[in-house]
Amino acid sequence: MRDKPIEKLIKSEEKRQAEGLELIPSENYVSEDVLKANGSVFTNKYSEGYPGRRYYGGQEFTDGVERLAIERACKLFNCKYANVQPHAGAPANVATYFALMEPGDTIMGMDLSHGGHLTHGHPVTYISKIFRFIRYKMKNIETGEIDYEEMLEVAMREKPKIIMAGYSAYTRELDYAKFSEIAKKVGALAIMDAAHIAGLIAGGAHKNPFDYGFDLILTTTHKTLRGPRGGMILTRDNEEIAKKIDKMVFPGFQGGPLMNTIAAKAVCFGEALTPAFKKYATQIIKNARVMAKVFLDNKIRLIGGGTDNHCVLADVYGSLGVTGKEAQTVLDEVGITLNMNMIADDPRKPLDPSGIRFGTPAITTRGFKEKECKRVAELMVKVLKNKDNKKIKESVHKEIKALAKKFPIPKKFV
Ligand SMILES: *Cc1c(COP(=O)(O)O)cnc(C)c1O
Repeated sequence: MRDKPIEKLIKSEEKRQAEGLELIPSENYVSEDVLKANGSVFTNKYSEGYPGRRYYGGQEFTDGVERLAIERACKLFNCKYANVQPHAGAPANVATYFALMEPGDTIMGMDLSHGGHLTHGHPVTYISKIFRFIRYKMKNIETGEIDYEEMLEVAMREKPKIIMAGYSAYTRELDYAKFSEIAKKVGALAIMDAAHIAGLIAGGAHKNPFDYGFDLILTTTHKTLRGPRGGMILTRDNEEIAKKIDKMVFPGFQGGPLMNTIAAKAVCFGEALTPAFKKYATQIIKNARVMAKVFLDNKIRLIGGGTDNHCVLADVYGSLGVTGKEAQTVLDEVGITLNMNMIADDPRKPLDPSGIRFGTPAITTRGFKEKECKRVAELMVKVLKNKDNKKIKESVHKEIKALAKKFPIPKKFV
């Protein structure tokens, strides 16, 4: 590369990723094929519109790429319609809201401090000024059970147009049948924001919300699904809804699609259709459970009491007197990247909350199994309990580096 400063930064990032352990639950490593498609000449191409109906010439090959991406996405999630053009998860969510509602309409989503995402109506977002957001919560923070009775009661009263399932920091599987039932009762659409767990659904390790009557699934493609940074909107079988979504994504909301990214999405979906991906998805959950158990064995409180997915949420402040920020910093020092996180009904502030959130997608991609994950969790606890002990931290850092070296980031998965 002739741009030396940028080349140097890319090399440094490569080294950082290779030498450390990535436990941020929304991150992963893509295959060389995905990278190649993402860095291909399709980045040069404008292709506003959809396959067969574009506003520019020269679409002999873009149409093929987008058709394949759509076909594979539908096969992967067992649905009839897919829009693969959203630039990321947040634009997919916003375009969906605008496609299916009028300003002032109501959306019911998971309380943000109980695991919901910013796009489910955080007051700092623009959409929170346009739509009305109402909430449901966990009934019991120690088990993660959702309060479905209250959800029904509030939905009957407030008449939301959309009931959103899905989350960024929640560790249990949802009762999709209950969501659908409540949505039907109040005339709302049931929508799953599967940004975090799409890979678990695609790999058959989690239930598919479409099998329980959900109308749409929204997702990113770069988290557990292990593709390029991007978004996608899936519609089960309603053509009218699918048409509204297409119209809103383009021209309603976005301009030209990122055809290089769509090519990379198609490659990712192809990989996700293989038996190897099923194994990966199942292993993610096994790994997360082993790590959760180490924390519980050390009397560290977990929100939801454990995990059914890729993610663990630990109340490190309540259990060890170490704040989320301190935990994030001290683990960073030993080569473990994760993030501080608010816990449900957190007594502390967002910039230094009580919790940490960590997950297993990236280390599972690296080939970690239960044995290695158990060890990593033990090392994490050791550091958290000895956060000012330089000697312990140095020895842990050495062991983490050795583990990273033993499990290099793979270039292909199938
Ligand atoms: C990550 C995430 C998003 C947003 O995705 P971006 O690609 O960062 O825009 C939306 N919803 C949920 C539940 C998420 O976890």
